[in-house]
Amino acid sequence: MRVVVVGAGIIGACVARAAIVAGCDVVVLDRDQAGSGTTSRGEGNVLVSDKPPGPELDLALRSRRRWDDLGDELGREALELESKGGLVVATSVPVLGTLARFADEQRRCGVIVEDVARPVEVEPLITPGAVGGQWYPQDAQVQPVLATVAVLADAARRGAEYRPGTDVLSARSDTRGAIKGVVTTSGEVIDADAVVNCAGTWGGEVGRRLGGPVPVLPRKGFVLVTEPLPPSVRHKVYSADYVANVAASSEGLETSCVVEATRAGTILIGASRERVGFDASMSPSTVQRLAAQAVALFPFLAGVQLLRVYRGFRPYCPDHQPVIGPDPRVPGLFHACGHEGAGIGLAPATGDLIAAHLTGRDPLAVAGVDPAPFLPERLLGTDMEAS
Ligand SMILES: Cc1cc2nc3c(=O)[nH]c(=O)nc-3n(C[C@H](O)[C@H](O)[C@H](O)COP(=O)(O)OP(=O)(O)OC[C@H]3O[C@@H](n4cnc5c(N)ncnc54)[C@H](O)[C@@H]3O)c2cc1C
Repeated sequence: MRVVVVGAGIIGACVARAAIVAGCDVVVLDRDQAGSGTTSRGEGNVLVSDKPPGPELDLALRSRRRWDDLGDELGREALELESKGGLVVATSVPVLGTLARFADEQRRCGVIVEDVARPVEVEPLITPGAVGGQWYPQDAQVQPVLATVAVLADAARRGAEYRPGTDVLSARSDTRGAIKGVVTTSGEVIDADAVVNCAGTWGGEVGRRLGGPVPVLPRKGFVLVTEPLPPSVRHKVYSADYVANVAASSEGLETSCVVEATRAGTILIGASRERVGFDASMSPSTVQRLAAQAVALFPFLAGVQLLRVYRGFRPYCPDHQPVIGPDPRVPGLFHACGHEGAGIGLAPATGDLIAAHLTGRDPLAVAGVDPAPFLPERLLGTDMEAS
């Protein structure tokens, strides 16, 4: 089976590798370069800590194990995969209770989580106002662009063809309406038995071009990057309200910071969440809010220089679950997009699910995750403007 993967972000790379390992011939197309989309705008957190029980947590747990497999096969250095663990802290006793109840529910689903009575013993520079928290040893980090390039390079070594600078314009279909390839903006036809839409935030538009629109919308976020520092922040550290913001559906600005160090010594402070379409403008007040929250968590950051600020657009579906699976309207078309703020973490298991769908194997048996909650049919008829 010949498969065209549209989009070479982290999702397209993991889909391409899983498909070729499953025995498909694979061509990966990107209108730009590998990792140049939202993948280059994320922080690279591979989190289980922020997910309540449900399908996304199941996918995250599976994906977390698969990141370790990729680390073993491709080299942890090549991905900058660090199993550094995450600390979620509360600054008031009622919030601490809420965190503990959330952790209990997660434990029942297989998440490893430990109560932390004194956060300062885990993170020596944290605010003395942190009254307690939860420790999640499964939380990890990758460098998203390095990981994308490494996974794609491995797919290429196994025979996948990668074609940057190739913008997909439409589908080539047979008389039954089944997709038989894609047509690029330069008029080239690329034949295929199946096409996978891995276009991230542009998945709605690519789906439309291929005859199967899906409601994927942008959720803007800023990330702050400090000057490089000597070792100071040891783990991923975030405040309890982060979980509420991730799940929130309001259109307004939401900020709750996650603070973490990178291999280069810089500290990443992310991230805001805002529904403003593709408005790319800078927002000094948002940056100020994130910075203030980071200083509240780690007071020493008040004396540290900000080096730069970057922003990106998370791809989200109205029900905040990714869309992964065959399009019931267009035989041969598959979607793997809409992973919102968790696409880096969820990419390997997404690749496994799509590979199973492509090759007609049972996704639950192959990927160990129930595919039903992610199937495209749940979104049919959903308003593209809805959020
Ligand atoms: C501020 C911020 C922080 C984040 N932090 C994290 C985090 O810590 N952890 C985490 O897991 N996730 C995080 N995310 C989310 C994560 O970055 C995304 O979920 C993920 O990168 C989506 O990957 P993707 O491959 O689906 O999309 P993309 O990386 O956007 O890839 C899609 C590709 O499709 C290509 N494309 C589009 N249209 C066409 C076309 N017509 N023809 C050919 N190619 C096309 C694009 O060029 C692009 O390269 C964050 C996002 C933001 C914005």
